[in-house]
Amino acid sequence: MSEDKRKPSTRLIHDGRQHGGFDGAVNPPIRRASTILTDDVSELYGGAKSLYGRMGTDTQETLSNGLKSLENAEHVQLAPTGLSGCALAMASVLNSGDHFLMTDSAYGPSRRFAERYLARMGVTTTFFDPRITADAFAALITPETKAAFFEMPGSLTFELHDLNALLPLCKQHNIITILDNTWAAGVFFKPLDAGVDISVQALTKYVIGHSDGFGGAAMTNDRRIALKLDQTANDWGVGMSPDDAYLAQRGLRTLHSRITQQGRTALNIAEWLAEQSEVKEVYHPALSTHPDNAIFNDLFSGASGLFSFALYSEDAAKLDRFFKTFQLFGFGFSWGGFESLILPCNPQLKRSTSDRWKSGSYGTLVRVQIGLEDEADLTEELQQALSELH
Ligand SMILES: *Cc1c(COP(=O)(O)O)cnc(C)c1O
Repeated sequence: MSEDKRKPSTRLIHDGRQHGGFDGAVNPPIRRASTILTDDVSELYGGAKSLYGRMGTDTQETLSNGLKSLENAEHVQLAPTGLSGCALAMASVLNSGDHFLMTDSAYGPSRRFAERYLARMGVTTTFFDPRITADAFAALITPETKAAFFEMPGSLTFELHDLNALLPLCKQHNIITILDNTWAAGVFFKPLDAGVDISVQALTKYVIGHSDGFGGAAMTNDRRIALKLDQTANDWGVGMSPDDAYLAQRGLRTLHSRITQQGRTALNIAEWLAEQSEVKEVYHPALSTHPDNAIFNDLFSGASGLFSFALYSEDAAKLDRFFKTFQLFGFGFSWGGFESLILPCNPQLKRSTSDRWKSGSYGTLVRVQIGLEDEADLTEELQQALSELH
């Protein structure tokens, strides 16, 4: 195959689309179907074509083909939500009696899946510090260790992993690696190119990008893993709805521009926040002061629009006034949409490996998702809010 010289934004616009298909329409139809009829009774069993909508129609196929191009993946398994995509990846490669290594910074519900569901399956999970060294990681590996779960950066505290040191260790011990790539959305980091076995994304965030749909994807270049993902999805009876798949494939076309713009605004705001006297620390991996900035520069080609910062103030009344100032920033979970969000994080921070995050001595942790509003308007609102802390 000749080398693809097209730039990433160009690939996102064109790949996965069927030019000339769908009667010339630019986008695929939202093909809602459970039953898919055939004229030939002999095709019902073991025919080449999927004849049941749970396995997807051409709407989901358009999305899968776009995601293959985005993450340089040969196989894509879609899931109804990001969480089910993460769960699918874990459950597909783990069996009763296995040991599982999971980053302590993993998305809370993914962590809960390991603690609750995998435990019931007979899998033992050990959480590791996201900044673990290769030696400390090697010490956690047992003959039963079958898979490891990474997520970078962590979506509350924004640590990166020393992947260049940890992945070779996993290869050496036949440990299957999974990485939650939702933050970089496949635009700024390509886990499969870096040697990760399964890249997962909550398409709910940047790919759908408009806070109005759900989706997940588990992507791999390993045929045996792809088969397991497919079997587990079938066993669970999960797929992605054509309506959500439509939104996700449409979101892919503008993903590059949106995430680039949001990332640029976010980094400027992070730099500005770092200079404010009320702010104790800013957690954004593209800042030169971030402890993992060297890893970031090595592995990532850019930053998206989600980061956090700690306020010195822990005064409930002042913090109440701080949050009540916001009008452009909404209070809400999720991220990757076009609108800015702000969230106090302390109640959802669950850590077992780090004394610092366990103790609560970090102040008040605040996370922002920067949307597509003008940077000046967002900064003005933040400045007003900070002034309430005096
Ligand atoms: C939101 C999120 C998920 C889960 O996605 P849902 O579509 O909400 O189930 C998984 N991982 C990360 C990092 C997320 O932010």
